[in-house]
Amino acid sequence: MESTVQIICKQCGTCCLANVNCYVTDEDLERWKREGRDDVLHIIEHEHAMWVGDHLVSSLDGHYLHGCSFLMWDGSHYACSIYETRPSVCRKYQPGSSEICPQFREIHDV
Ligand code: SF4
Ligand code: SF4
Repeated sequence: MESTVQIICKQCGTCCLANVNCYVTDEDLERWKREGRDDVLHIIEHEHAMWVGDHLVSSLDGHYLHGCSFLMWDGSHYACSIYETRPSVCRKYQPGSSEICPQFREIHDV
């Protein structure tokens, strides 16, 4: 039986430390074009993220990339600056669904 427990996101930002560029789909790109989100497309196209071992760097100058470019700190929580049109990978991510999320313990009682 599937759990019906609603796990609340604590807006810690940890799941947004992965660089979203690597997971953007063609459908996301098409939507941003339709919506005229040149700001989003510009960032996606110009960050030039690439994997080196287990972390991401810029292929332009090799600087270490710390998380998603759209992650913002609002003074008390992390927030997504493009929440209304965030990529599908972010829409599908459920709080508590992986060990990196502090809410994982809520579900798995560890
Ligand atoms: S890691 Fe979990 S609690 Fe933190 S922002 Fe992501 S979903 Fe929310
Ligand atoms: S696009 Fe938004 S929700 Fe997705 S990783 Fe970046 S900050 Fe997080």
